Amino acid sequence: MKTQKGCKAIVIGAGVAGLASAIRLVAEGYQVQIFEKNDFCGGKLSQIKLGEFRFDAGPSLFTMPHLVEELYWISGKKSTDFRYHKLDEVCRYFFPDGTRFHMPANEEDRIRVLSNTLGEDPEMLRKYLETSRFRYETIGRLFVERCLRKVSTFFNPLAFKAYLNLGKLGLFSSLASWNKRMFRNPLTQQLFNRYATYNGSDPFQTPAVMGMIPHLEYGIGAFFPKGGMIRITESLQELALELGVEIRTGVAVESIQTSGNKATGIQTEQGIFECDVLVSAVDVSLTYNRLLGKKSKAEKYSRLPKSTSAIIWYWGIGRQTPQTGLHNIFFSSDYPKEFQQLFGVKTMPDEPSIYLNISSKENSEDAPEGKENWFVMVNAPANEGQDWDTLLAETRKFVLKKLSAELGFMVEDFIEAETVLDPRSLETRTGGVGGALYGNNSNHPFAAFLRHANFSSEYSNLFFCGGTVHPGGGIPLALQSARIAVDYVKEKA
Ligand SMILES: Cc1cc2nc3c(=O)[nH]c(=O)nc-3n(C[C@H](O)[C@H](O)[C@H](O)COP(=O)(O)OP(=O)(O)OC[C@H]3O[C@@H](n4cnc5c(N)ncnc54)[C@H](O)[C@@H]3O)c2cc1C
Repeated sequence: MKTQKGCKAIVIGAGVAGLASAIRLVAEGYQVQIFEKNDFCGGKLSQIKLGEFRFDAGPSLFTMPHLVEELYWISGKKSTDFRYHKLDEVCRYFFPDGTRFHMPANEEDRIRVLSNTLGEDPEMLRKYLETSRFRYETIGRLFVERCLRKVSTFFNPLAFKAYLNLGKLGLFSSLASWNKRMFRNPLTQQLFNRYATYNGSDPFQTPAVMGMIPHLEYGIGAFFPKGGMIRITESLQELALELGVEIRTGVAVESIQTSGNKATGIQTEQGIFECDVLVSAVDVSLTYNRLLGKKSKAEKYSRLPKSTSAIIWYWGIGRQTPQTGLHNIFFSSDYPKEFQQLFGVKTMPDEPSIYLNISSKENSEDAPEGKENWFVMVNAPANEGQDWDTLLAETRKFVLKKLSAELGFMVEDFIEAETVLDPRSLETRTGGVGGALYGNNSNHPFAAFLRHANFSSEYSNLFFCGGTVHPGGGIPLALQSARIAVDYVKEKA
């Protein structure tokens, strides 16, 4: 039932979470305005153009597309302009010892490749993927789809199924130690350890329950939106506008206005805007620090250990590379050291693993004919004032040397266009503290309980969504956070 006709809602921030919450609020009958500080929408999910090369600026792996489609369904619209397809090949792997293979999406082909190339027992691989599915279907769905502040989350058939299978969930050992028990080849262990980085965590610390993440890629699938990742942002923006949402870009929110236990509106350089419901879809520490002026609460959340950030080079490459695919990983030879440097020393690893994404492999318009658009990313610690200029220069040298050796040509000689983002610029571009890609890390078994809830305990009509609050970072979780926040709006406002 639409009970809120005429009530005004304001959303701060037009990242995917902000756009999704605006669409959901319209479906509940609200008149919605979004205020976005950048002159473009999308936040982390935006794009960069360098001459004739186009790059998705942030996310490159698209999982759980039904969460985008759901926004069309609830709005009574058809997602005719948002198309995507499932990838047949998930990733190409390059190991330092010369082992290379393409990981197929099809389960039997995948098991065959892993057993032929890495010598793993096919039955063990099946068991691993089945456990991954089980973890996702039980604890994953409990923690990701529901609010952790409700007693009902912990007393329902799904929760009881989880309690009855505690040993299978992997709550009490690290992902790396579980992978070591399951696989004999250290390369297979490294491959599956990498899934911890999908939410910016350390495989040697994060609990083995994160072994659910491969299920997203293998069980549900990896997808590619027609036109590139930017189409997710553009489609949601188009849908929001069609539904009558007013999107004000280039307008930073300076503060949240409050009276008693209510948030009454926002202050911008264009004046004060009042509302009945306020949703903050920006970093939660930033909301407390700059918008509410609550320094101690801001500090509480900014002190929580952050996920990795990244250095990303966007290179227009003046040739093609048949040995690469859409997603490519060039692994380091010492994964424990790499993560010790990222999370322990909080510096750039001497030998970082490199992720190379080339969207022009799927979307030929992203690069001129005969050329490729390279998104070259290495994990970095969140910004704490490290000497980034020096670290950038050293890491760029390493990356060029490594990719040149792996691909058999001098990469630098083919760079026709270049720009770079690092933890500092990621922080200014999106307002995310430390430039962390996924908010807080999940290295601690109780990390999920430390994330901010999707509502304010102080202001009855203030709600939170986005990658820094429950259930966490990444496009699917940011979209889920918008759903949970608007469920609270329905309940509380
Ligand atoms: C390099 C990189 C790679 C990634 N890879 C993947 C991937 O492959 N797959 C995946 O699922 N996820 C990936 N992620 C994570 C994913 O992008 C994020 O979790 C998700 O986009 C977060 O969306 P959000 O809406 O919560 O926040 P954001 O995108 O950060 O949006 C917040 C918005 O708020 C705006 N804002 C901030 N302050 C104000 C203010 N005062 N007033 C008004 N507006 C304000 C910002 O400008 C921004 O537009 C990646 C992220 C990065 C950066």
